[in-house]
Amino acid sequence: MKKVLLVSVSTLIVGLASPAWSQEQRPPFETKKVDGTDNVYIFRNGNHQAMFIVTNDGVIATDPIAYGRPTGGQTYLDEIKKVTDKPVKYVIYSHHHFDHIAGGKAFKDAGAQFIAHRKVKERLEPLADPNTVLPDEVFDSEKTVTLGGTALELRYLGPNHSDSTIVMRLPREKIMFIVDTIPVGTVPGRGMIDFYPAETEQFIKKVLAMDWERLIPGHPGQPNGRLGTKKDAEDQLALLQDASAEMKKLGQEGKCWDAAEKEFKLPKYANWPGYEQGLPFIARRYCGYWGRGT
Ligand SMILES: [Zn+2]
Repeated sequence: MKKVLLVSVSTLIVGLASPAWSQEQRPPFETKKVDGTDNVYIFRNGNHQAMFIVTNDGVIATDPIAYGRPTGGQTYLDEIKKVTDKPVKYVIYSHHHFDHIAGGKAFKDAGAQFIAHRKVKERLEPLADPNTVLPDEVFDSEKTVTLGGTALELRYLGPNHSDSTIVMRLPREKIMFIVDTIPVGTVPGRGMIDFYPAETEQFIKKVLAMDWERLIPGHPGQPNGRLGTKKDAEDQLALLQDASAEMKKLGQEGKCWDAAEKEFKLPKYANWPGYEQGLPFIARRYCGYWGRGT
């Protein structure tokens, strides 16, 4: 198994550590170089993470991950500055959810160009979130960002975790950065309100057909913040297929919402991290699908 090399750990411990990370004995944020690469890094802040790539001509960053963290964008930029003195040229959004993309102002002020799928802009514009920078440039199906000899391929494979989520691929490193749709070693999180059940299965099959070896997720993989593999994508697809089959019975028996959601269990996944927290949200989303046609 490939491991991630620790390059710089920023430890900022103010008063009592929050239980979530003190239990795991990890600092509030940190930056790690991905093992086996020359220039690919993961910046983690709390339980969110983003990828950035350092080149001789500048940096390609992704998601600012600073929702509810007013200084989070600047922290991210400061972490990049510890690695390189080159400017951040681009910030690429994985999708439109604020927990991943809020906090880009520091990057905008430093002159970065923001790129996202067209749907991101359509979603963000009416909300006018004061903490979230609108994309400068949008694309529909695919775009390759090239900088200093690095190519980062952006592709839209249809609706999945949201209708704006893209995949990012580094062809040379065979690394993917995919946020929220394919959690690594965990049950899907709570943000399933705009999740597309049938389309997500197709999405994961398309991802599996692509050429890659390692997956950087938008939340640290379990255990120990590991990167994902195609096996993780297959496991996640199986989980969603199992969830769908289970709720299909209940929904078609006329049990949605309350009875079905109470009865809905996925015992095969009961020992996966996030099972207890995630189950009600999975139940609700698939109840909507099979019990209401939504
Ligand atoms: Zn999301």
